[in-house]
Amino acid sequence: MAGQQPDVEVFGHVIGGEEVTAGDGAHFDSVDPYTGTAWARLPLGGAAEADLAVAAARRAFDTGPWPRMGAAERRTILHRLADLVLENRELLALADTRDMGKPVTQSLTKDVPRTAENLRFFADHACLTPAEVYPSDTGHHAYTRYEPAGVVVAIAPWNFPLMLASWKIAPALAWGNTVVLKPAEDSPVSVTMLARLALEAGMPPGVLNVVHGYGPDSAGAALTAHPGVDRITFTGESSTGVAVARAAATHLTPVSLELGGKGANVVFADADLDQAVEWSVRAAFTNAGQVCLAGSRLYAHRSVVGEFTRRLCAAAERLVPGDPKDPGTLLGPLSSEAHHDKVTGYLDTVTAWGGSVETGGAGSGLFVRPTVITGLPKDAPHRTEEIFGPLVTVTPFDTEDEVVAEVNDSPYGLNAMLFTEDLSRAHRVAASLRVGTVWVNCFFVRDLRAPFGGVGRSGLGREGGTYSREFFTEPKAVVVRIGDDTDTGAGA
Ligand code: NAD
Repeated sequence: MAGQQPDVEVFGHVIGGEEVTAGDGAHFDSVDPYTGTAWARLPLGGAAEADLAVAAARRAFDTGPWPRMGAAERRTILHRLADLVLENRELLALADTRDMGKPVTQSLTKDVPRTAENLRFFADHACLTPAEVYPSDTGHHAYTRYEPAGVVVAIAPWNFPLMLASWKIAPALAWGNTVVLKPAEDSPVSVTMLARLALEAGMPPGVLNVVHGYGPDSAGAALTAHPGVDRITFTGESSTGVAVARAAATHLTPVSLELGGKGANVVFADADLDQAVEWSVRAAFTNAGQVCLAGSRLYAHRSVVGEFTRRLCAAAERLVPGDPKDPGTLLGPLSSEAHHDKVTGYLDTVTAWGGSVETGGAGSGLFVRPTVITGLPKDAPHRTEEIFGPLVTVTPFDTEDEVVAEVNDSPYGLNAMLFTEDLSRAHRVAASLRVGTVWVNCFFVRDLRAPFGGVGRSGLGREGGTYSREFFTEPKAVVVRIGDDTDTGAGA
């Protein structure tokens, strides 16, 4: 293409099985946050592309084979796609790393295999999950059919670009829906590759479509307000979730929202401190803290807080920033300049709020070093707001009741971690927390059958296993009269 940098790769929307560029030539670039240079060029979609993609998905749903072929045949194709994902793991992993700075080892060993696992799990789940039967002695037989809902719009964030997109599209596709996926503008490439691979795996055209663009006044807003959409599954910031829910309400489109978090991490006096430090480092600094589930507000019992903080700082200092494409790197840059500015803005105000940076701080380029902050008051924004960077606040507590109240005193309610060797305490505290997931003596361990989601500003609804089935299908009751009984019961 004339005037284009030779090392910029060009990708299109994937609509109706074709990769298409922008009709009007509008485009945007994906910038590698480590090098600061554009590496990929994408067409900038808007209402026109949203219309085209929804129409393609609608055609594929209304007249194509995908919803009709049955779960077993869909499973074969989804497993083939999972195989192709693993065969292309380097390419996919590198795309996420270049798009948003994630260490390639994280993408290669975690995100890409989990993407394949999501595809396989939901493909199998749709085949193997029984549906309810309601036998009756009074002459009728009732059962539930889980029928695909139709056209699903999936909107994904940039922090786990491929993996989180697969968490949405795998159950949607396995249950026979067709999908229009809009990736985040900062991380558009790996899912475009996934859509190419889906066609290679034998998925019919129009079943998985990808539209690129921004959110407001762009492809995202057009898709969420579209009257031809049957489900919207969204992952992103809580404030964006409100906008998406508003748009969805126009047509009463059911919406599932996986939103922001402010994960609390509680270290009790009886915790195994070595284990607690190891998991807390992962919880706070994996993916440079750009994790909705990050354990960014840490509470340690007063009797251990000094020792725990010393060890936490020492472990944090071992995470040396580096080129995310280097397999030895554990800490990459933040995803973009705008996000870096937001995170460092919080660093700038630590002292003014009366806190101390025990270790860490701003690094070079778009890096922020793993940062441990102490001494902040309860209302400091660092303790209450989602920062989405490698910053963790440490606060001492004295009693179980006090720390439970602290954890629950948040608009967010995505997850919490507890570190204790006291079994009764673990169950008791887990039961009293107002969050979607509690991890005891671990972090980030996911069972795809379990519900996943948040309360309060952390989301609406649950996904995972049968929870995904509930969302991506229209359950239908079929009642068959098999006897002579003419009594209709209570009726409607
Ligand atoms: P974001 O809300 O800025 O963007 C998410 C997606 O929504 C992007 O694709 C964006 O283009 C699109 N979008 C933005 N405005 C829109 C609008 N008005 N209508 C339709 N689409 C719109 O979020 P982000 O910065 O990409 O991701 C980080 C956020 O995601 C954090 O808050 C994080 O906690 C959250 N997150 C939550 C989970 C979870 O499972 N709960 C997982 C990962 C990330």
